[in-house]
Amino acid sequence: MKIVMLGPPGAGKGTQAALLAQRLDIPTLSTGNILRAAIKEGLPVGLEAKKYMDSGKLVPDDVIIGVVRDYLAREEFASGVILDGMPRTVNQAEMLEKMGVGISGALALDISDEEIEARMSSRRVCLNCGATYSLTVNPPKKEGVCDKCGEKVVIRDDDRPETVRERLAVYHEQTEPIIAFYAERGILRRVDGTLSVEEITKKLEEALETLK
Ligand code: AMP
Repeated sequence: MKIVMLGPPGAGKGTQAALLAQRLDIPTLSTGNILRAAIKEGLPVGLEAKKYMDSGKLVPDDVIIGVVRDYLAREEFASGVILDGMPRTVNQAEMLEKMGVGISGALALDISDEEIEARMSSRRVCLNCGATYSLTVNPPKKEGVCDKCGEKVVIRDDDRPETVRERLAVYHEQTEPIIAFYAERGILRRVDGTLSVEEITKKLEEALETLK
């Protein structure tokens, strides 16, 4: 089963992708996490991506497609994957189709820009393992320290308010059209992204049942 998570930055795609991955026993692939790891390791692709990410812009499609193609060729993703943060443009969605990655479901989390701006200011992330926290909903047990790996939990460079506004503008302009793309293919399912984490997971699982 190949699933894509859709919705604005901060909608909870990463959180829900991780929960669904556990329940369905299929791996997630987050382009944002891959790019952040590449930046941390000083890889050329990371250096190229960082200038776009820090200003809230999308990394060019050819860079993303190259990265995703390499990952999806791995054995671990052969029977299923939950894509988080990819595709971000209709062009990327078309490229996935051309690569023969048959998407079985697109799960969109609906949430307003106002709610996103409020959420992002409290979001924290572990740069080591990618775990995400919210200071209001699920803070790390020890302040500033990742529950999962013990490394530092920080505010992402691109979660600063001015960058969040830019990312939302980019989302509406470049990513939102993907919702219509998957709706046309009959595989779009929308869920209210303002519900509790548990309620959203339940609704997403119900939505997936309708796709089988
Ligand atoms: P995310 O962690 O998914 O919010 O991604 C953080 C940033 O990485 C985005 O604001 C983009 O700059 C970049 N990025 C992640 N995934 C993609 C993608 N599929 N296409 C273009 N840029 C991406």
